[in-house]
Amino acid sequence: MAPFEDDALPLPRRPRGTVPQPPMPPERRLAGIPVSPGIAIGPVFGAAEPQATMVRRKIAAADIASQTARLDAAVLQSRKQLLKLRARLGVLPEDSQAEIAPLLDAYLQMVGPSRLLRGIRRHITEMLVSAETAVMDTSEEITAAILAMAADDDDPAGRERHAEEVREIARRLVRNLTLTPFRSFARIPEGAVLVCEGLRPADAALLDPSRLAGVATDEGGAEGHTAIMLRALGMPAVLGVTGLSENARPGDTVVVDGGAGVVTVNPSPATLTTARRGVTAFAREQQKLARFRRLPAVTLDGETVELQANMEIPAELPLIAQAGAAGIGLLRSEFLFMNRETMPDERAQTEIYRSVIEAMGGDPVTIRVLDWGGEKDIEALQSEGVVPEAGDQNPAFGMRGIRLLLRRPELFETQLAAILHAAVAGPTRVLLPMVTTVGEVRAAREIYDHIVHRLRRHGDRLPDPIPPLGIMIETPGAALSADALALEADFFAIGTNDLAMYALAVGRGDSEVAALYDPLHPAVLRLVQFATEAALRVRMPVSVCGEMAANPRLVPLLLGLGLRSFSMNASAVPRVKQAVRAATIDGCVRFAHRVMEQSDPERIQAMVLGRPGAD
Ligand code: PEP
Ligand code: MG
Repeated sequence: MAPFEDDALPLPRRPRGTVPQPPMPPERRLAGIPVSPGIAIGPVFGAAEPQATMVRRKIAAADIASQTARLDAAVLQSRKQLLKLRARLGVLPEDSQAEIAPLLDAYLQMVGPSRLLRGIRRHITEMLVSAETAVMDTSEEITAAILAMAADDDDPAGRERHAEEVREIARRLVRNLTLTPFRSFARIPEGAVLVCEGLRPADAALLDPSRLAGVATDEGGAEGHTAIMLRALGMPAVLGVTGLSENARPGDTVVVDGGAGVVTVNPSPATLTTARRGVTAFAREQQKLARFRRLPAVTLDGETVELQANMEIPAELPLIAQAGAAGIGLLRSEFLFMNRETMPDERAQTEIYRSVIEAMGGDPVTIRVLDWGGEKDIEALQSEGVVPEAGDQNPAFGMRGIRLLLRRPELFETQLAAILHAAVAGPTRVLLPMVTTVGEVRAAREIYDHIVHRLRRHGDRLPDPIPPLGIMIETPGAALSADALALEADFFAIGTNDLAMYALAVGRGDSEVAALYDPLHPAVLRLVQFATEAALRVRMPVSVCGEMAANPRLVPLLLGLGLRSFSMNASAVPRVKQAVRAATIDGCVRFAHRVMEQSDPERIQAMVLGRPGAD
């Protein structure tokens, strides 16, 4: 998915209609990927780019190293942004590609070993100025030299273009140095619909569901972290709407139907009337589902099923309380690290975890330790140089989750200590992300035991018993080693989002291949089945916390495979509970057998999705 930073680039704007606008613009219906249900009606808001503010300043000689490190982090970040942009070029028309590719290459060269970067470094060390001052001073010197270059050449426009390229890279570096977001959501008018090309998960976490009516973007897929965030916030959203930002201008009225995956720009009076009815019907349906809040999650034949909520940011706590979830089955702690300039220290983390555990009033909370990587860029980690450069290559396969934590044990130890301190407030579990080998679990447990020992020696108050240490089963490698991993871990949480992505080689947030992303593919189901059976054989707790758990139609299949614990976005809990209460375990087991005999994904889709409940 393209990041927000894309808008900082001079991508060619496709010409908007050159004919005079008719008084009533025609209605346009655009199809996308349904991501978060509900209907939003409102004016289009396209977030504006905030200006990076910087003050030119001198530094002491002792600060050279820290300023150089800040510059390195900003260069790395800029390179990543530009590489992502280059990867996206293929979707543009050929003539635009021909125009932009050399420009991007020039930018990339400038954030490589270039005259610009050498000059900036020299300014920091010799002139003793801050990194952003050095960027501005050097770029001004270079642009002045370019513009003053031999007046005998007859290409002043070419010189101006070259100078503008240098200025553009300087702006990008300063923006990254000053951690200025590429857009701001602070002034979104109440009731507006955010329309933009792409939205990063960290940006989605900044949206205020009480002000914003809905979200629609050109890019993105149903299982990406942006989609997860939008569902968590209960915000109607459609992503992956091709051509959206060309067709919707600020101030246009739009209808976003997050259930159907349709965005209507300039709706006709008839469409508006239907949409308003849809809003009322959705609210009524939500009210009806609210009665499930107090009912137990028990099948018709008396089997209790645990339904918990996934959580990303504290703003979700009220929604989780309303949903009737029995605790938090997945706290994605990395979201607590996003949108910050520095890493939260142990005390700050303890406070956050403690407040969540206390809010759950005795229901268990499963805290997943930091899963940095993939789409989940965390600026604080980058600016503090925690994240290695290898992340550039192929982030989903790189230094993610437990790999990063084992490489940076100080990060891991701080988080474990914070969780242990907070866990005296209520039942807690610790969950490791992106495990692929038994060795990783052993190494993690060794660090965990070491921290427990250290805190005990220090006389700190610790929970008794010590929180269990479980693992995500979200890579095919982990799923197929589940029998061995079951002997090392205290519990499994099956992450079907990444599991499907890695098993099918389909990016979970990539709208181009969204149709290929199929968690019901027999390969994915067999991995889920293998891991579940490995856990059940040794009587170890196992749950599903990927998006599959949130789909009520999948309840019979998952129950039939032996699963009894699900964690999902809070707003899905009532519907899933309704499905649980309509199922019988016998019926589900028979149904799951029939499904697992199939090898044709389409047939499985028809069986599972065409079938609302168990028999
Ligand atoms: C998963 O991969 O299914 C999962 C729950 O983790 P995340 O969505 O945070 O990657
Ligand atoms: Mg995952």
